[in-house]
Amino acid sequence: MTRDGSGQARPLLLKGARIVDGRGVRHERADVLVSGEQIAAIEPNLEVDGAVVWPVGGRTLTPGLMNAHAHICLDPGPDPERILRHEVPAETAIRAASRLQQTLAAGVTTIRDVGGAAGVDIALASLVERREIAGPRMLAAGRVITMTGGHGYWFGVEADGPDAVRHAVRGQIKAGATTIKVMATGGMMTPGQAAGAPQLTVDEMAVAVDEAHKAGRIVAAHAESAAGARNAVLAGVDSVEHGHGIDEEVVSLMLERGTALVPTILSDRAIVEAAPEAGIPDFVVEKCRALAPSLERTLRLAIERGVPIAAGNDGGAPLVPIGDIVGELELYVVHGMTAQEALAAATTATAALFGMSQLGLLEVGYVADLLVVDGDPLADIGSLRGPRAVIARGVPVHADHLESPPG
Ligand SMILES: [Zn+2]
Repeated sequence: MTRDGSGQARPLLLKGARIVDGRGVRHERADVLVSGEQIAAIEPNLEVDGAVVWPVGGRTLTPGLMNAHAHICLDPGPDPERILRHEVPAETAIRAASRLQQTLAAGVTTIRDVGGAAGVDIALASLVERREIAGPRMLAAGRVITMTGGHGYWFGVEADGPDAVRHAVRGQIKAGATTIKVMATGGMMTPGQAAGAPQLTVDEMAVAVDEAHKAGRIVAAHAESAAGARNAVLAGVDSVEHGHGIDEEVVSLMLERGTALVPTILSDRAIVEAAPEAGIPDFVVEKCRALAPSLERTLRLAIERGVPIAAGNDGGAPLVPIGDIVGELELYVVHGMTAQEALAAATTATAALFGMSQLGLLEVGYVADLLVVDGDPLADIGSLRGPRAVIARGVPVHADHLESPPG
């Protein structure tokens, strides 16, 4: 849908695209009609009176990408924690809103924020939903739920024991959270704790899952060791985030229970490869260097064994913008996925985790979250980077370069 000079809504007709999604090449050449928020038709040689026509012959149309692990309140510079601790909520909100625009322009049309501050993520999610600001649709966790002194305690809610965790989850849902995040282990970004040491117990996380599921919310658990991931899976969480050191036993449990993995391997890579003068705090670099190889092993094992993998890059962590989900997908390919599987990880697999059945495929009736890209993402997943055009909920977000021939 676009609007003409008089503000009249007009359907959008994309002519002659190659149509590709996580199920492969759907059409070698077809026209796609976008009407309202939806894909209204996909057929060869469509003619529609009054439609705005975009010639996209020689280019590829894919679904908008999804990022299942992001932090819109964090500045993706070398030391996000220091900035968040020193800014006031108004600054956090304004900076986060501009990150949302950048994320959308990069082709990411849905994100799950798994830890915000001062209610900013929740407020932005509803502003986007109401179309008051531009951005990807958002699931927002609000404040993370962690044990006293646990990972992220300085911007989360500290809760000890099942009753306190139940209270904390209810509090975030009351505040408007549309997903819940719990900390199953320590983390790299919190000083003075071992990243993989178990934190919330199985009983505590099981209560969080119970409360969240009653309210129709999914639960993500941060876990950087096999022991922590095992606790989270036993508690019934919907996804394990990171998952360093996950072994055969945990993989079997995840397969049994349908638990998804959100690897965020780009974040480890960015920290490990950063120059010493980049300014990432030493304790973060040290913990990450020690743990990064164990996440690579997890990813290879999970791919091999068919664990559902939803793409998330931990955008907002040092040197990782939320919009760079393609960098994450490239690493999935390095570690054993096909490009088509990687595309599915950032579309259908994430939509399945979120329970958003109208997203992730290029089919009639699906929400029109679309990218126009040059090249063939099934041959090179990197060709999803820097899309020519982005359409979100039926509305073109940017379409700067469509007049030039496919590059
Ligand atoms: Zn994170």
